[in-house]
Amino acid sequence: MPGDVTCLLCPRRCRIPPGAAGDCRVRVNLDGRLLAVTYGRPVAVHVDPMEKKPLFHFLPGAEIFSLATVGCNLHCIHCQNWEISQADPGEHDVYDLPPDRVAAVAAHEGCRAVAWTYTEPIVFYEYTYDGSVACRERGLKTVLVSAGYANPRPWRRLCGVIDAAILDLKAFSDAHYREVCGGTLAPVLEAIRIAHEEGVWIEVLNLLVPTRNDDPALVDALVDWMLTTLGPDVPLHFTAFHPDYRLKNLPPTPTRTLLAARKRALGAGLHHVYVGNVPGGEAECTWCPACHARLVHRVGYRVLENRLAATGGRCPECGAQVAGVWA
Ligand code: SF4
Ligand SMILES: [Zn+2]
Repeated sequence: MPGDVTCLLCPRRCRIPPGAAGDCRVRVNLDGRLLAVTYGRPVAVHVDPMEKKPLFHFLPGAEIFSLATVGCNLHCIHCQNWEISQADPGEHDVYDLPPDRVAAVAAHEGCRAVAWTYTEPIVFYEYTYDGSVACRERGLKTVLVSAGYANPRPWRRLCGVIDAAILDLKAFSDAHYREVCGGTLAPVLEAIRIAHEEGVWIEVLNLLVPTRNDDPALVDALVDWMLTTLGPDVPLHFTAFHPDYRLKNLPPTPTRTLLAARKRALGAGLHHVYVGNVPGGEAECTWCPACHARLVHRVGYRVLENRLAATGGRCPECGAQVAGVWA
């Protein structure tokens, strides 16, 4: 129709009539101009530990200024942040925090990095991009927490201003993406590959949902793809599902499922595989892939010891270089 605009940011390629919004609710056709109406208006702002993202090989123990606007271009039926990810702009009170203020407030709070997180930073792309530029100008690192459901061109451009990313690979199954998340698998794989190629420090997260994506064959396929495409040094985090939003009829993921997945992934050849929500266990510590010495000791979100900070990432026992950004 005349006056429609097409958004090219994500694989949905929404055709948006005048006055309407795309599927993410954030990107609006205002008089023929595509506008992200949440620019500078985050709904959630917190100082988190880096480990909460979870990023384990990027400035361990650092505090990270974390923010999100409403909106998402996926619609996972188990979303734990659904109250903001699936909300309309205007549904919640927001902060007035333009990009330069984000950088100033983050520095004032003593944070070394800023994360675009909680919902989906792709849909508030311009804010994420401009905010990241402003943060870098102040010497802050920039972090993306994303499901990577983006088109290659804008995604590659965004990678140019991002230092690290935790990328959510929901399952190595297109059916799972369609049925549980309302998306597709292939664009996500391509986004992860591009981020790695562009030199962003990436870690991959896989949330295991009982009966939905916890089949060992799916875990094996995901690990095989990582090994082939990214190599053995990109960390993988298995995390637990908790009943929420529209998926309340399944139990939480048993710890044994997460630990079994970790064992398979390590056995296949990945060097760093973590399990969330098992405080004090070996699955949340970083081990030397060569001599198996414990190098970063974590309990929950706390870092008790980081033996890599003073060595530039070299194992103090055997000298092996451990992939990551350590100080
Ligand atoms: S970013 Fe939003 S408006 Fe743009 S194509 Fe994706 S869902 Fe549609
Ligand atoms: Zn070693």
